[in-house]
Amino acid sequence: MRLFSATIATETNTFSPMPTSLAAFQESVFLRPGEHPDDAPRMCTAPLFVARNRAARDGFTLIEGSCFAASPAGTVNRADYEFMRDEVLAQLNAALPLDAVLFGLHGAMVAHGYDDVEGDLLERARAIVGQKCVIGVEHDLHCHMTLKRIRNCDIMICYKEFPHTDVADRAEDLLDLVLRTLRGEIRPVMSLYDCRQIGSYPTTLPLMRGFVDRMTALEGKDGILSVSAVHCFPYADVEELSGRILVVADRDKAKADALATRLGEEFVSMRGKTMPEFLSVADGVDAAIAFEGAPVVIADPADNAGGGAPSDNTTIVRALIERDASGAAVGPIWDPIAVRLCFDAGIGARFALRFGGKIGPASSQPLDALVEVTALARECWQSFGPTQVPLGDCAAVRVGAVDVVLIAKRTQALGLELFENLGIDPRARKIVAVKSTNHFMAAYGPIAARVIYVESDGPLARNYRNLPYTKIRRPIWPLDAETSPGLIY
Ligand SMILES: [Zn+2]
Repeated sequence: MRLFSATIATETNTFSPMPTSLAAFQESVFLRPGEHPDDAPRMCTAPLFVARNRAARDGFTLIEGSCFAASPAGTVNRADYEFMRDEVLAQLNAALPLDAVLFGLHGAMVAHGYDDVEGDLLERARAIVGQKCVIGVEHDLHCHMTLKRIRNCDIMICYKEFPHTDVADRAEDLLDLVLRTLRGEIRPVMSLYDCRQIGSYPTTLPLMRGFVDRMTALEGKDGILSVSAVHCFPYADVEELSGRILVVADRDKAKADALATRLGEEFVSMRGKTMPEFLSVADGVDAAIAFEGAPVVIADPADNAGGGAPSDNTTIVRALIERDASGAAVGPIWDPIAVRLCFDAGIGARFALRFGGKIGPASSQPLDALVEVTALARECWQSFGPTQVPLGDCAAVRVGAVDVVLIAKRTQALGLELFENLGIDPRARKIVAVKSTNHFMAAYGPIAARVIYVESDGPLARNYRNLPYTKIRRPIWPLDAETSPGLIY
């Protein structure tokens, strides 16, 4: 058996002021055949990583294609997408004959001229490999699950957990189902229910936790192979943005339809009940200072680089400095220029630094402060489950009583290493303020005495009614009160 795997992945915030070019991929994941690391998967490359580890045991040959992934930001340069796509498709063509293809795709990538990048890629891949080849795809649950994709693959699986701690587990599931299909043990059929809703569904909160646990319990029996809840990615103006339920069943389409409908109706009934409570920045900082235990973790989802925000909004840092919040650490502020200036100044230097607040109106104003450079570290990383995520060069500066982590490669707060790389132990802090929607919970949830979510003036507004959608299909909740959810595939 011959399997091929490749990745083209980013999460595109079409409202973001930062265009995504090839340089953003080169900065994050830009791996050609023969360059894939052995230690851990990188962003969205879990299908290749898992298949490589199982090829000998499961008796197949893996042909490794290129893997390209970039941190979330604005719409991707058209020529750069076509360059990456055509490279992967040429590799696919050269690898024929193939029994199966495994794609690790984020599922919310938008390029100029391509609102459905993954649909375009899968349609072209299908044309190359033919109908008999099994195409299996892993998506982030923050994806746009378009009909074009479902029509051009055999098995689609999304992560179940938010934070995404199950990326490698779902890649294992995908490979299992692809191999069982190749052995003739199963014949997958898929059903897709469109809930007509935009929402956020952290699986660390009870209602969604229960839903995911019930989904998982349904798998592997009574002909149900896989169940995915598509959360959608709200910060993209594309036609098929919507929460959806996807069921993969063995042969029995009617059974897949019935389960997708039952779970879809349940997902609809959860509208408005799945998001955590948000405080204002001022109230959040006050509550953190007043809280007896430590550390209090404050999350700033509105400036989450993982959703395409710049991660240079200064509102929380400013609030902590103004309140003289001793024992507070904040990160990450993405500001490669400030990092460069700190390296130039050197450890122990006290100097006037302007940092943050640079990219756009939603970055707030830059902070001008007399800072002390407390730590510097080159080419840092943080972990997210088994995945390694680059931070680039990092600097820690102290402003009054507050320590601020500046990073050169834009990403959200994921692992404790974000602070530890610079000698800051988040466990020992009174307050740890992180820029992240919910992925931070994987590492920071277990150490937090309390978690407080705040709504800053960063670009990722929680109120979707404020986003300037023009292409999204209507009606959809919460933009419209009346909607018509239903089975669409
Ligand atoms: Zn995601």
